[in-house]
Amino acid sequence: MTNNSGFDTQEILGGIREWVEIESPTDTPEATNRMADKVEADFAAHGGKIDRIAGTQGFGDCLKVRTPWGGDGKGILVLSHIDTVHPIGTLERLPFRVEGDIAYGPGIFDMKGGAYLGFHAFRNYCRQGKETPLPITFLFNTDEEMCSRSSRDLIIAEAHKHKYVLVLEPARDGGNVVGARKGTARFVLDIQGRPAHSGSRHADGRSAIKELARQIIDIESMTDYERELTVNVGVISGGSRPNVIPEFASAEVDMRLPTKALADEMIPKVAGLKSYDPDVTIKVSGGAERPPFEQTEAGVALFEHARKVGAELGMNLEAVKAGGASDANFAGPITPALDGLGVNGDGAHTMNEQITVSLLAQRAELFYRLLGSLE
Ligand SMILES: [Zn+2]
Repeated sequence: MTNNSGFDTQEILGGIREWVEIESPTDTPEATNRMADKVEADFAAHGGKIDRIAGTQGFGDCLKVRTPWGGDGKGILVLSHIDTVHPIGTLERLPFRVEGDIAYGPGIFDMKGGAYLGFHAFRNYCRQGKETPLPITFLFNTDEEMCSRSSRDLIIAEAHKHKYVLVLEPARDGGNVVGARKGTARFVLDIQGRPAHSGSRHADGRSAIKELARQIIDIESMTDYERELTVNVGVISGGSRPNVIPEFASAEVDMRLPTKALADEMIPKVAGLKSYDPDVTIKVSGGAERPPFEQTEAGVALFEHARKVGAELGMNLEAVKAGGASDANFAGPITPALDGLGVNGDGAHTMNEQITVSLLAQRAELFYRLLGSLE
C-alpha cells in the first residue's frame, strides 16, 4: 500500500527494521546507547536540535530532540522509549521477518515501531518543508522497561514545559488509544521470627512463614475489582529446612491503583502492616513506583481531537484505560496526555512480538496529522 503523501508502507517498515535490528535491552547501556546513536543520527540528518543527556544508575542516555521550528513556546512533548525487554541475542531467535501481513522482531511492537513513527512524522514535515503550529520535543529514553529510574525526573521536568504529551506506546486491540493508566506500587516484606528445632524445641520457635501466611491473606484481600484495585503477592520465599522453625520469610507485592486518592489510601496500609505475633518483626520496604495517569477533562478534550483526526482517516478510535504503566504515568498527572498512539500488533515482551504491516501507513499518518493539528 502506498500513497503520495509520504506514507509508504514499505519505506516505514524499512525504517522500523533498522531500529529493531539494533538490540537494546534496558540493562545493557552500551547497547541502548548504540540505539540512541542511531536515533540521534536519523534526527540530525533532518535538522533536529539534539541534546543528549547522560544516563545515571547504570542506564543509557536520553535524547531530547526539538524541531527547528516553533521557538521556545509551550509545545508538544512526544515520549518514546528505545529500550526493550529482550536480551542481546534475541534477534537470532526472533529475527526481523515479514510473513504475510505480520512483521516480527524484538521490541517491534513495544515500542520501536511506535518510536519510529515519531521520527517518520518529523522527517515528513522536514522533507515537505512544512512546520507544525506548535514546536515539538521528542524525548527518547532507554530505561522505561525498568521504570524510567534514570529518566523520570527529565520526563516530569519536560512535561511541565509542554502543552500536550503524546506517547507512542503500542495501540490497544482494535487500534484504540490509551486515555488512562493505573499507577503501580511495589513492596518487599521481610519477616523475621525465631528459629528452633521443630521436634525438641517447637514451642520456643516463632515461625516467620506462619506470620507471612497470615499477612498474605490480608494483602491479597485488599484486591477490590469494583474499585479497580488489584494486589498480587507474586514471589515468596522463606525457611531453611523442614525440621527448623523458619527464622526468615519474605514476599514481593505488586499493587495497581487507578486513582491518586486510592494510592494515598492503600500504600500506607501496606507500609504499615503489623505482625500478628509480637515476637515476630515485619519490615516493609518499597512504595509508590509510578503514579496513576488519570483521565482529566483536558485529557478527554485531547482524545476527542485525536478521535476527529482518526475519523478523517476512516478510523474509529476509542480511549481505553490500561492496567499496565508507561511514561504517561509520570507526564499525565502534569499535562494533558494521550498514549497508545503507536503501532498495531501483539505479543509485547514475548518471542511472538509482532506488528500489523497493512495498518502502518494509516497509523503513521494519524500521528503526523495529530502533530500538525494541535494548537
Ligand atoms: Zn513500552
